Amino acid sequence: MIHLRSTEVYLDSNATTPVMEESMQAARLAMEDTFGNPSSSHTTGLRARSLMENARDMAKSVLGAGDGTVVFTSGATEAIQMAIFSTLCHVRDNRQNNPAEPRLLLYGATEHKAVPQALAHWNDVLQVGDQVVEIPVDANGLLDFEFIREHAAQADMICTMAVNNESGVIHDLKKVETAIRGENGDQNPELLWLVDCVQAVGKMPLNLKETTIDYAAVSGHKIYAPKGIGLLYSRKGKPLKALLAGGGQESGARGGTENLPGVAAIAAVLEKLDASPSKTFAEPETLKRHQEKIVAALSEAFPEIVFNTPFDHSVPTTVNFAVDRFENKELLDLFDAAGVRVSSGSACGSGAAKSYVLDAMGVPEWRSRGAIRLSFGPLDTESQIDSACRKIISAGQALSDSCLMTSVKNGDSTRILDGLIQLKKGSDCTWIYLDSKTGTGIVIDPFAAMLDRVESLLRCQHSRVIAVLDTHAHVDHDSPRPQFIETIADCLADSANSRDPLGWPDDSELLTLSDGSTADYLPLGEDKVLARFELPGHTTESFAYLIGTLDGSGNLPSQNIEFAFTGDTILFGGIGRTDFASSTPEGMFQSLKSLPGRIDVNSTVICPTHDYSNVFATTLATEIKSNSFLARILDHENPMSRDEFLAEKPGIDQQITDATNCELVCGFMEAEATTGSPVELALKGINELKEHFAANKDAIVIDVRESHEFTFAQNWSDLGLSKPPRNIPLSQLTNALPELMQLDSEDNSILFLCRSGRRSQVAAKLALRIGMKNITHIRGGLALNSSPPNYEMEFVI
Ligand code: PLP
Repeated sequence: MIHLRSTEVYLDSNATTPVMEESMQAARLAMEDTFGNPSSSHTTGLRARSLMENARDMAKSVLGAGDGTVVFTSGATEAIQMAIFSTLCHVRDNRQNNPAEPRLLLYGATEHKAVPQALAHWNDVLQVGDQVVEIPVDANGLLDFEFIREHAAQADMICTMAVNNESGVIHDLKKVETAIRGENGDQNPELLWLVDCVQAVGKMPLNLKETTIDYAAVSGHKIYAPKGIGLLYSRKGKPLKALLAGGGQESGARGGTENLPGVAAIAAVLEKLDASPSKTFAEPETLKRHQEKIVAALSEAFPEIVFNTPFDHSVPTTVNFAVDRFENKELLDLFDAAGVRVSSGSACGSGAAKSYVLDAMGVPEWRSRGAIRLSFGPLDTESQIDSACRKIISAGQALSDSCLMTSVKNGDSTRILDGLIQLKKGSDCTWIYLDSKTGTGIVIDPFAAMLDRVESLLRCQHSRVIAVLDTHAHVDHDSPRPQFIETIADCLADSANSRDPLGWPDDSELLTLSDGSTADYLPLGEDKVLARFELPGHTTESFAYLIGTLDGSGNLPSQNIEFAFTGDTILFGGIGRTDFASSTPEGMFQSLKSLPGRIDVNSTVICPTHDYSNVFATTLATEIKSNSFLARILDHENPMSRDEFLAEKPGIDQQITDATNCELVCGFMEAEATTGSPVELALKGINELKEHFAANKDAIVIDVRESHEFTFAQNWSDLGLSKPPRNIPLSQLTNALPELMQLDSEDNSILFLCRSGRRSQVAAKLALRIGMKNITHIRGGLALNSSPPNYEMEFVI
């Protein structure tokens, strides 16, 4: 049993495992004592050779390899290459003697990418010209045996896996064998069969000599040995061609001086496995019990969870799931903040939008996009599993507290939300304004994809929505406003059920703006107002909404306006397109000209409907600086004329079409919104971070993680901070901009931080873009600048 003591719960063993103490010791000994070159004929060399051969025997014993061959490699990817390279060289050599029709190279649709990539690569490099064909899997991730039976006779090679790394699905190798070799085992004897055993070793007994498997790949770092060591089993007499030619090591199968510390390390693990009666790390009942605990904890934490792992025929150590309405990125950030390390699909595929494994199983797209893979180690102890469960439950609790779970209908969240919240999906932005004192809310620019989130937030905060507003009539879709009104009907004030096509309440009053024009307005909360004026252009029916504070005379001067929702009129680095039938270029010109007289050029924060460049919010001054066309329109001395505008604008709109092919782009924007480079603090670990905080005691430190992540934030005093940072999640950064812009000065530096440094960089870029000066962020985030976890292990069988 390995005892793993740490503040972190590591549940990503399919990506890699920690290294077992015995394995580390063996590697160390192989460097200190048995450091010889196994090819040397002196005593030091002989000792090294003996270590290699003992390790090989151990591997053969664990795999039940019989008289097969074991070659040590750098890992499974290399072992897979070797098997495929050897097969295809053999195929090519035979074909030269006997030219024939191109044949098939079959592989399971859920194989690790190393397999199809290597097949395509060597098929191409060796010019074999075979057809690489995927074997479909069913909804349970199981191979289509009928397909194998039909195609086996035309195939040169078939690659399958014992256990899938993403779903945990176990492939019954006996059944696969029957499909390949026939009921009597006498068919397709020439067809070479590779089995990827990476995720099976140590979790289930393997007895390769009892099968007709020709090649098997194993990786050290999935079984508590270090990275850089693995092995290839090949059945006696099957082709084995060196990928690396050299000094004849590994009986000529792999040139290059052997990685003796790696071999010693994997041998230490194999020795332990060999000592266990089932040649596994743990009994199936133990793993099943651990899985049941994890599944129960996940189900309690996330009532809307759906499991992607078919539990009936998968290894208990892998639990793949999705939570309705959550992207895997959000869940990964949450788990990571809670100290639970999980991944989205395979580690190599992290960052890929969807899981090809789940796609192949026909899992609905949202579950594939939102998939999280939790894989505990077969050596994890009961107490580690219990600790993992506690952390999982606290992660779910944090999500409920931050009002993001729809299942928390009438949430008792202790968290009071106030001000502006930006919800984003792709480039679409829906804005919610909440006034916590009066419990009043507004929704601006509703998008259907954000309905669930809006509903959860409003219910959880017990808000009464006075208006659901569109800034404009959309060209490409009907407004989902009616859907919002229906779904949150019980959260609506009477005013929200208006007859106005864009949702403006039927009863409002008039106020005067800075340029003397009038605007409709409603009171908002205790001391704010919501006002609107017409802003035609992108579409004829279009308004700007303003949030601000009346002056003593009941007017709304521009400097009192905090936020302006200008729809698609102002985009980051661009302006709305006006080439639709419902557009009015003339109106756009007048609308743009009107803005500086009505909102404050420097301090009013503009909140658009679309954020194509991930810059969140802007100001008119920023846009004038970054958009020369807008600058010319609003130039004081030599402004662009209406006729010039009307002549030039169609040309600008024409450039839009190519900007993206995945959504209708509502205006032209710079390819990359211009921002300065934020000052990045590149620190070398926790001590430098502490020194930095000590030397910059007065800096305003802002953690931009979402509140449910911040809840788990570490002991800030350990980092030398006298008080915790302010938590301003990216989704509420726009709300804080008016205040931050005022705080920013030569004397006040603002330091953004987050876990990985990605979100703090976005925040810092936004702050710089709108003209703030004294801005820094921590490169690599807190993850790279806090104490490394301290794993302690003990291995007892
Ligand atoms: N096959 C499977 C099923 C795996 O999970 C992995 C690792 O992710 C590999 C192959 C590649 O192994 P290695 O990292 O040793 O090259």
